[in-house]
Amino acid sequence: MSNWLHTATPEARRAFYGYGACEGQGADEHMRDFLAAAYIDAQMASSDALHRNEDFVRDPHQELPPSRDASPVRRECEESEPLGPVPRDAHWPRWMREDNPRRYGRDDEIRMHVEDFMPELGDLLDQARPHEHMGEELGARWVCPVATCDHSFCPHALSRSHALAVRALGLDDIVVNGTGGSDERLDGSNPRLFLRCIDALAWLHLQEHLLSIGVRLTWPHPRERYWEPVAWWLEPDQPSPRYAPLPQAVVRLCARLNRNDEVESREVRDWIQVKTLRWARRGQHRARVNITRLRREARTRREDLVARMFEAGERVLTVARGLMQRRRQDEELLVGWRLEHAMHSAYLKEGRAHASASVLASARVPANE
Ligand SMILES: [Zn+2]
Ligand SMILES: [Zn+2]
Repeated sequence: MSNWLHTATPEARRAFYGYGACEGQGADEHMRDFLAAAYIDAQMASSDALHRNEDFVRDPHQELPPSRDASPVRRECEESEPLGPVPRDAHWPRWMREDNPRRYGRDDEIRMHVEDFMPELGDLLDQARPHEHMGEELGARWVCPVATCDHSFCPHALSRSHALAVRALGLDDIVVNGTGGSDERLDGSNPRLFLRCIDALAWLHLQEHLLSIGVRLTWPHPRERYWEPVAWWLEPDQPSPRYAPLPQAVVRLCARLNRNDEVESREVRDWIQVKTLRWARRGQHRARVNITRLRREARTRREDLVARMFEAGERVLTVARGLMQRRRQDEELLVGWRLEHAMHSAYLKEGRAHASASVLASARVPANE
């Protein structure tokens, strides 16, 4: 027997147990009372638990990947302390951490390749712009840094081929005739363009060196307002490689980097999936806990309401109506959490349908629910 019957009026109890109509009560009225009592009983009896008991038990699985075996014990680190011995990456998946042989980026790998063949150009991407290397001791010329090359040029006396190269960049107007002889020179009246032109000529030359070992250099066009960084690329990756056949070393390097890229992309993608699923799992859990809590609180309030109304001598029909209204208000409180629950459940459903078994396992998401 439900608790609420203890507090109910005799009339309500009578209606609930389906006894005959009271004195002076019509059959319709009696039926209404019976239904009202049944409604009250149903509302009082529902447990409404979305949430299983074991959900309240602490998740025994460890969320963080284990720290590296060799790493020192974690401790709090002073603000001013250098980052050295304190492992800051313990929350990263293993493959992201420092001991990963694939930690080198593409630029580093290309740098090592370049250093093997032309040590002078290894730090090209970090070097100052070429015009900054022009000095008195070099005769105010830009001199190629490669030891085996004696290429150089002077912006105030361009050779024929250099003048052509500048024109080929679409910079006809900056090549002017020298005052004295037949030499052409770069016009310095726009200093920014002048310097960029020197840079472009230098990079144009360095690119020839790099192309011979299968590396392509890109640099900003002198007229470009956006100053893109100097960058290098592997020639076998280009849609139309310049030199064929390319050195075997660079072909192998390229294949290895692309393979690493593929593996790493897959790992990162999986890791994002794992994080999404963990977020969804926690969100679903949080929504369930809150929905259950709100429902339990609401049930207590309904019990109070019913008891108070019967105590005040209200008729069973009035009590049922009051209860309906309270029920509507209670449902409104749940709307937000219901939406949360639906959203997170949809993510989990999506994940179960598409994620790999290992992703589901890392996210501690059971494959079926
Ligand atoms: Zn050179
Ligand atoms: Zn040249």
